[in-house]
Amino acid sequence: MAKVNGATLIARSLKQQGVEYMFGVVGFPVGPIAEAAQAAGIKYYGMRNEQSASYAAQAVGYLTGRPGACLVVSGPGVVHGLAGLANAQQNCWPMILIGGASAVHQNGMGAFQEERQVLIATPFCKFAHAVEHTHRIPFYVEMAVRYSIYGRPGACYLDMPDDIILGEVDEEKVQQAATVVEPPRMIAPEQEVERALNVLEGAQRPLIIVGKGMAWSRAEDEVRAFIERTQVPFLASPMGKGVMDDNHPLSVGAARSHALQEADVIYLLGARLNWIMHFGKPPRFNKNVRIVQLDISPEAISQNVPAEVALVGDGKAIVGQLNKALEKRQWFYPKDTPWHAAIAAKAEANAKQIAPQAEDNSNPMNYYRAFKDISAILPDNAVIIGEGANTMDIGRTQMPNKSPRLRLDAGSYGTMGIGMGFVIAAAVVHPDRPIVSVSGDAAIGFSGMEIETACRYNMPVKIIVLNNGGIGSGIEALPDDRLKIPPRVMSIGSGYEKLMEAFGGRGWYVEDPKDLRKALDELMAHNGPGLVNVKLAPTAGRKPQQFGWHTS
Ligand code: ADP
Ligand code: MG
Repeated sequence: MAKVNGATLIARSLKQQGVEYMFGVVGFPVGPIAEAAQAAGIKYYGMRNEQSASYAAQAVGYLTGRPGACLVVSGPGVVHGLAGLANAQQNCWPMILIGGASAVHQNGMGAFQEERQVLIATPFCKFAHAVEHTHRIPFYVEMAVRYSIYGRPGACYLDMPDDIILGEVDEEKVQQAATVVEPPRMIAPEQEVERALNVLEGAQRPLIIVGKGMAWSRAEDEVRAFIERTQVPFLASPMGKGVMDDNHPLSVGAARSHALQEADVIYLLGARLNWIMHFGKPPRFNKNVRIVQLDISPEAISQNVPAEVALVGDGKAIVGQLNKALEKRQWFYPKDTPWHAAIAAKAEANAKQIAPQAEDNSNPMNYYRAFKDISAILPDNAVIIGEGANTMDIGRTQMPNKSPRLRLDAGSYGTMGIGMGFVIAAAVVHPDRPIVSVSGDAAIGFSGMEIETACRYNMPVKIIVLNNGGIGSGIEALPDDRLKIPPRVMSIGSGYEKLMEAFGGRGWYVEDPKDLRKALDELMAHNGPGLVNVKLAPTAGRKPQQFGWHTS
């Protein structure tokens, strides 16, 4: 009778479930799984650190709708992978972490890298389990895939002990599982849809907030139709950018604080009123704001601010219901209201404030000057990855997105170090699109060795480092007493482009703003991995903000 081992079963099951990509770092006992994955036709990418591997797996999950797999060794490998699990949980993105484990018969004996892995993974997972029988692997893989994408998406963990991986069973004894179909799209009761539209019709200053839940649910056509039909201004969340074109005339992106403060009705679509949205509370929000909230997760409704109407279910399906219900109504939000005028005035004032910085050719340059050239060379179809505090925050306002799921950044968990994992994920999912990462110098440090990974797989990724020599800001010169270096400060003028050159890619170093455009043009034209390292003034910062970044 034909026999099959655990490694082959896990690879075959993942493939059957539509898991196309695996990122990992091999070693005991997972090497055979990586090889079996390649043999099964899964695209395996060997990474340099498990954190980056786990970030890549979840970004692939978000971009494709099917979870990415991350393969890590026992003990420390799983511990490193937890970073990605936590990030995936906070972002509501699907991934499956597969951790090797010491053999079951050595449990409790102080085995090599023995760790209580299911226990430590559980707080970050929708489902975590140690596979105890080789023949049940397909059952657990089906469960992990289903849990990761049904309902609010998230992470799952499968613990694979050495003896289960190497264990052999008769093909006929294998417990086969059905293939997980696309998640069901739940709709809202008709009367709630009508109530939601009644609230909108009563608004003086309505605002729609579009979150990454809408990007995940592929609701762009419905959201675009809804906004065109109702003419209500909208604000995109950081990764909700592109569900609507950022340059759409109804975008309030350039007058964000004002719009949030003044809106009297907010449609919260696949977004949370968490720290990114200032908890929906005064002084950032109107204290009498009426919330219509659409979310797939019932537990998310009314977090921080009670929702007047709850639309629980799938974003695409429910905005489709709203559009349908609107066919029976005449109402739309009139053009040229004081609300429009106030938003336009605020946006203009903001643009005026930025303009002198964008035109300032001092050497070394400031952020806005750098972004002037970067936004000019960005193709509409690029996937844009951003990380680093100032770099990412300013980048959100200066690099527009036209289409959904083309922006990846530190997200709900505010994780620095996601950059290169996300870059690699974007490159594997979208080989046909330019992949452009704009990273701070501190941020690239967390995952910089993955530049080697990008070079090894010959991914033509474009990496731009805005290098001010520190976390937040740098310093003009390091003090002679090195113990007096301020904690935020890093080396001055570090040659990050040489890291790229070290592995066979191309690098550029730019100090004078007049040289930036040429380097960026060459980067975009280069048919392989490249890195432009842009020296910024060490004290370069963000334009003054009305509120501190985490004012509640
Ligand atoms: P953002 O950071 O863009 O504000 P969040 O991550 O805070 O977005 O919120 C996204 C929300 O989208 C989560 O509360 C999640 O439950 C919800 N969500 C996820 N999938 C769907 C879906 N298919 N339909 C509607 N909402 C969804
Ligand atoms: Mg910096």
